[in-house]
Amino acid sequence: MSASDRDARPNTASRPKRRRVLVVEDEPDVAGLIKHTLERGGDLDVEIAHTGEAALTKATERVPDVLILDLNLPGFDGLEVCRILRGRPGFEALPIIMLTARASEGDRIKGLDLGADDYMTKPFSPRELAARVRAALRRGSDAARAATDVYRGKHLVADFDAVAVAVDDKQIKLTRREFELLRYLVQNRNRVVSRDRLLERVWGYENSVETRSVDVHIGRLRGKLGAAASQIETVVGLGYRFIEIPETAAAG
Ligand code: CA
Repeated sequence: MSASDRDARPNTASRPKRRRVLVVEDEPDVAGLIKHTLERGGDLDVEIAHTGEAALTKATERVPDVLILDLNLPGFDGLEVCRILRGRPGFEALPIIMLTARASEGDRIKGLDLGADDYMTKPFSPRELAARVRAALRRGSDAARAATDVYRGKHLVADFDAVAVAVDDKQIKLTRREFELLRYLVQNRNRVVSRDRLLERVWGYENSVETRSVDVHIGRLRGKLGAAASQIETVVGLGYRFIEIPETAAAG
């Protein structure tokens, strides 16, 4: 990763463009700390909205590259802001990281189902939040590149157009459902996907009680993925996450 962009570099065209982060947080101290931490890297511009309404106005004026969203807000709460934005054209791909003091698993699941990409529970480490913002920005560029619909990782290579999946250069046979499951997890790599979301997107059910069938299919898929099996991580109480291991990752 070439995150160290020196000012002395002659070719200014290769310098990454500044990205914009909108922080929705009603506590000024917390908002200020987040802004300070994120802007320290020098390549992010951070704007703060103290209410849900202000967040909607600012986000609509100019779509940010990442949204950090507190759940407990005066007026529209964070879940409402998430729901409204996700329903607007142009906001489908906006990475949303929820911040919540609520320990409730229900809120987190609701947030993920409303289209949040990630969440952090307060109190949180600002440095970890910064790392997650950078991961979200990388995912954004990956999504733009994903038009070819081929995933290449260290162990797993999946051509979703050609319906061909290989682990360590060996083709594996997946059922249609396993293939679609893998496709959805890989497309949403490094983010938690709830069982309900998988049922809705892979199975097409809106309100199914059979979330266990997701677990069964995940189990079978893992069984076929060999060295890549552990990349499908169980996130207890929430769902599953495909952890990316880049092609260039060191062996071992
Ligand atoms: Ca709050």
